[in-house]
Parts: sequence; structure tokens; C-alpha cells
Amino acid sequence: MKYSRAMTLSSNHEPAIPASEWASVCELPAARRSSSMAFDTIGVCRGTTYLLGFIKVINRLIGVYMRNKVTRRGILLSGAMALMSDQFGVPAAANHTVPNDLDHEHFMRLAIERGKETPRLPFGAVIVNMKTKEVIAGGSMRVNKKPIWHGEMVAINGCPDTDTGFNWKEVCLYSTAESCPMCQSAILWAGIPLVVYGSSMPYLVERGWGYVNIRSQAVIDASLIGKCQSIGGVLEKECNQLFLDAKKLDS
Ligand SMILES: [Zn+2]
Repeated sequence: MKYSRAMTLSSNHEPAIPASEWASVCELPAARRSSSMAFDTIGVCRGTTYLLGFIKVINRLIGVYMRNKVTRRGILLSGAMALMSDQFGVPAAANHTVPNDLDHEHFMRLAIERGKETPRLPFGAVIVNMKTKEVIAGGSMRVNKKPIWHGEMVAINGCPDTDTGFNWKEVCLYSTAESCPMCQSAILWAGIPLVVYGSSMPYLVERGWGYVNIRSQAVIDASLIGKCQSIGGVLEKECNQLFLDAKKLDS
């Protein structure tokens, strides 16, 4: 399944380069691919892989230009960002270590289970250690207790304190829905390098769900405190159904 990964400067925050394409251009050479390398930085692309990746990205950006009519300056900037990004081994705004062997659907199912704990507000989240694959914390919408306790906030608050040695850079967050600006900002402030979601904000807004209507990628783009990667559309059908069922409970 192809998941969206919004990570460029395209004007409408649509993914300019699909995750599958990034994955293929940044794949490690076979000789270097081993279990001990599973937690290696994604963006270690060298030699031919580097060159091919560069050509692919440029071709893709030209395609984006033709479709979205972004400015030439935007293209140059996007290209520069792509080249500087950790996908090519050089850190951009933040140097994140994100493995490529995570079973997104498995962890999203766990987030869905958390969402089902509050069936009228099925915004569920889990936080997973990307290295050990251990689920560290989870949460569902608890706004009846505290108005800011969205699933992601509950999950973040459920993680151990940093002074106990907890490393936020080793975890990622799965959420049944695209994070609101508050939660996305909290994810950035925590330094969590990867967020994965199911239902998109436009889908939920269209169906009457309340949001501060700023896409999570726009929040990431605006961040001066570091970036994180965002992958959307994981088990999207299942997550969308969760929210459709929730609306039926009130009708
Ligand atoms: Zn939120």
C-alpha cells in the first residue's frame, strides 16, 4: 500500500514524493543491509544510489511543478531541501534516526483499539520504541477530564520522564487521525521524529469533526524547533470507518 508522506514545500501540502519512491531511492546497498543495521539512519545513500536518487527527485519535482505550478524558487528550494535532508545522509533541520522496518499497520491497529475505548471520539494513539518495537504508552480522547487531553497528548504524557533516561528520539507516534496543531506541536516539542496517522484532517473536517484547521504538515513546515516525518493514510479505511461509526452513535 502506498502511504502519503508530506515532506516538501509544495503549496498545498500534498506529498510531492511518495514514500515508496523515497524508500527505493534510499535503500541501503545489500552488503550493508543486515539486522544489525535495522536501526541505521534511513538516509545513507552513496555512489550510484545517490546519483539515481537525485535524478528521481529532480524528475519528481518537475512533475510537481507542472501539476501545482509552484514557483521556480519553490522548486529550487525543495530540491535543496531534498539534497540536504537526512534522506541523503546530511541532516537538514533535524537529524532523525528512523528505521524502515516498522510494521505500521500492526501499530495502527493498536491505536485503533485505543480509539475504540472512547467510541464517540475515537482518536486513539500509541507511542512505540522504534528500536525495540515496544509499545511505551497509549491514549484515547479524554477531553471530558481535561480539554487538552487528545489521544496524542495522553500518550505523550504516559511516557516516562526524560530525567529517567527516556529517549524521545527513539519513539514514534501512531494516531487514528491526523494530529491537530496542538498535538502536532507537542510531538515536535517532544522531539518525536516520526508520526503516522490514519484518517486525514480534510476527511474528518468534511464530516463535521472539530479541528483547528491547519494541516499537520503545515505545522511541521512552520516549526523552528526541529522537524519530524509524517506518514498518512495507514489503515485509512479502517480509521475512517471508526469515525463514521462514531457519528452514527450520536444520530
Ligand atoms: Zn489534538
